Parts: sequence; C-alpha cells; structure tokens
Amino acid sequence: MGGAALGDRPALSGLYGPKQPLPVLVQPLGGESTGSFVNRLAHGQGLHLDQLLTRVGFGQASRDPQRVRAYPQLTEMYVNALGLEYLATLCGLSVQTLQEALPSLEQRHLLPEGEEAVWKWPLAPREGHLVPLCSGCGLLRGVTELVWMISPGRWRMCARHLEWTDDHRSSEPVTVSLERVPETVSAQQRRETLQQHFGSVGGQLFADAFQVVVYCWTCLPDAERWVQRAGSVGLEAFSVRAAPLVVLPEAAQLAKRMLDFERLGERDRSLREKWLAGVRRDMAAWGVDADVGIEPLRQWLSHHREQPAQLGPQNSHAGGSGTRPVRLPGSHEFHAQPVWDLGELSCLRWQLGQSACEM
Ligand SMILES: [Zn+2]
Repeated sequence: MGGAALGDRPALSGLYGPKQPLPVLVQPLGGESTGSFVNRLAHGQGLHLDQLLTRVGFGQASRDPQRVRAYPQLTEMYVNALGLEYLATLCGLSVQTLQEALPSLEQRHLLPEGEEAVWKWPLAPREGHLVPLCSGCGLLRGVTELVWMISPGRWRMCARHLEWTDDHRSSEPVTVSLERVPETVSAQQRRETLQQHFGSVGGQLFADAFQVVVYCWTCLPDAERWVQRAGSVGLEAFSVRAAPLVVLPEAAQLAKRMLDFERLGERDRSLREKWLAGVRRDMAAWGVDADVGIEPLRQWLSHHREQPAQLGPQNSHAGGSGTRPVRLPGSHEFHAQPVWDLGELSCLRWQLGQSACEM
C-alpha cells in the first residue's frame, strides 16, 4: 500500500474547510478506530469511503477506490489538529467528544500542525491492532456493519455473545463463535481474574504461560485437543490464526501452576523438580510430549529460579490478604509504554508464527 497515498495530496486550507456537518450524523463507539468511524460516517451518507474522502478533499479515490475501501481493516487514519477540526465539523461533534471516543485522535497521536488539514493512512496502526468489535455488541449499540476497534491485543473475546475476533485481515470467517469451546471462554476469564488480582504480575505470568504453550503448539500442533478445538470453531487446524484460541485453556492452566511456583517460599532443586513433575503430568493430559514441552519450561525456570530479593511497594497489594506477594524477576522488564503484544510482556521472547527452530 502506498503509505500516505491520501495524505500526500495537499489538503484543503482552513479557508475552504467544511462549514457544516454532513446530513446524517453517526456516533463514534468508544475505542473504535478513526478509520472505522470515518468509514461508517461515509456509509451513513450513502457513500463509499473513497467517495466521502474525495468529496471532503482528502482523497484521490478514482485512482484505486477498491484499495481505499479496504483501508479501515488494513490501516488507521491519523490527522493533525486542523484535520481533527474538519472531522469534528463534518460529523457534528466536538473535538473533545471525538478525542474521548477514538484512541488514535488522542493528542499524542496528532500529526504535526501545519497550515493545512491533514488526514493520513500510514501502513499500519501506530499503536494497537485493528480487531473487529463483537457483532452482538455492535448490534446493542445500533450498528449492523463491522466496527474496527483499536485493540491492545491481537484478539478480542466477548463472553456475553461468545464471539472471538482477531486481526487476521480479509480472511474468513470474520468472527468466530465460541459456543462449542466453553473452555476457551473460561480460560480468558481466568486470565482476566489473574490480572485483576495480581495486576501487571498476573498479566506477565499469563504471557509466560501463553509463550510456553505457543512453543508446544509450534512443535506439536497435531495434539488432538487442539485439532478438535480448531475444527469445532470452523478454523483450520495448524493455522497460526487458530492457535491462540485453541491453546488458551492450557495457557490458563499453566499460568495457575506458574503462580503457585512464584508463591513457593523455597525454591531448591527438589521443589523445582516436584513442580516440573506436576506440569509434565498436565502436558501428558494435553496430549503433548512432555520432553518437548519441558524445554521452554526450563528456560522459564532459569529466569524465575531466584526468589526476588525485595518486595517492591507496587506489589504490596498483590496476592490478596493473607497470601505471599508475588514479584517477578528482572527478566520481566518494566514497560513504561503500553505493551501491545503478549510476547513483549513475557521473559520468553519468541513470537507465535515463528518456526520451532527460531524459538
Ligand atoms: Zn458481544
């Protein structure tokens, strides 16, 4: 995609900017991508995205209208301050309302100011992933078309409507029903509970567990339960797209084991081996060769072997009342910026989609 295909064109100067709203008003949804919102704004007027952009002076859609129509699912739209004012005028909302609803319009994402209004569609979102909103949740807010959210992770799960969506672009199915995999739904809920109870430590432990299970899946994607789960949600077995959904239950189980380990008072060799034996039994029950699965676990243990010397004040709440606070070792870096990938939260740095020999 030509990075700034639309933005390269000199935009209208302030003098010629829009003076009144479009005829049909469209409400942004909280967390929606700007591109998704502008796309719905166009549809509200009975126009395609490329037609709207051309009319308001931000497009050369006649060159490649099909590509422009795919923008909302491929990339995100960014604006400068004047571009934001134009958008606010067009949709009949205040700048503040727009900025509160649409994450990519936040002040830190605004393009450099200039004499002209700019709307740009770079190659990829600067932050987060474009993941569709659950269709049931969209309907509850009166929206029948696909809404693209700026999502912190590569997938979203709606426990209310049992729908799974992800950032796999232009591949069918767009949404996946979780009705036949309740274990994946409860695994995601256990992940959330872990984060609620243990804050960032809970999120990091879950990320570690997920990475270990991703390693197992990469080596042994033909484990029967994983193949079955993929089949029962209509995704291709062995596909990277299906992987998070099919391994989530095992990741949640392992995260609990890891939490138990972190809460052990002593971690001498015999306790470590005893703990490993428990995980080996889990892996056998998953249908995973424990001799393969134990490899990433040994790496994890090598990072987590030492009990952290000090208990930081930020963890004094962690663990709840009457339990040992949990703090992870230095291999878990402190992230000042939000982290948008599960792999980055973990001390195990491979990525889903890499081959086993790269891990
Ligand atoms: Zn929903």
